[in-house]
Amino acid sequence: MAGYFNELFSGTKSLAIGLRITIKECFKPVVTLQYPHESLVMTPRYRGHIELVGDAETGETKCIVCGMCQRACPSGCITVKGEKREGVKGKVLTVYQLDFTKCSLCGQCVESCKPGAIDFSHEYNLASTRKEDFIFDLVKRLKDKS
Ligand code: SF4
Ligand code: SF4
Repeated sequence: MAGYFNELFSGTKSLAIGLRITIKECFKPVVTLQYPHESLVMTPRYRGHIELVGDAETGETKCIVCGMCQRACPSGCITVKGEKREGVKGKVLTVYQLDFTKCSLCGQCVESCKPGAIDFSHEYNLASTRKEDFIFDLVKRLKDKS
């Protein structure tokens, strides 16, 4: 009989401990997301693929087509092209292509860009089985953003 009551007591005690933990956890802040219906806000230092940064006022690219980022990239991911236009000082950016399949996110390109025309995006939601989906036209992406 004593064994029965001992078992009953220890069972009730462990149930109470379990319930206490469950109730405590219920009132803690939620740290998970309902992905893909909700998106994460990435930390400021998160490194997604690089992107062109638009001028704060005009939204136009700050790129001066110096080619420093292309030369600095150890993986050969970047292709930059520009052209001279009538009445415009310097070159106008026409092509900025990033082959993200080869990018190691080393940051050499961002560091080498003196005008601050490129930076890391906060994009983390990339998924595809096609390589072509990771060749980015950054000029188009900038235009689509503005
Ligand atoms: S982060 Fe590094 S590897 Fe990626 S494009 Fe820039 S320089 Fe190239
Ligand atoms: S280093 Fe900067 S300004 Fe020069 S081509 Fe690259 S993005 Fe443009």
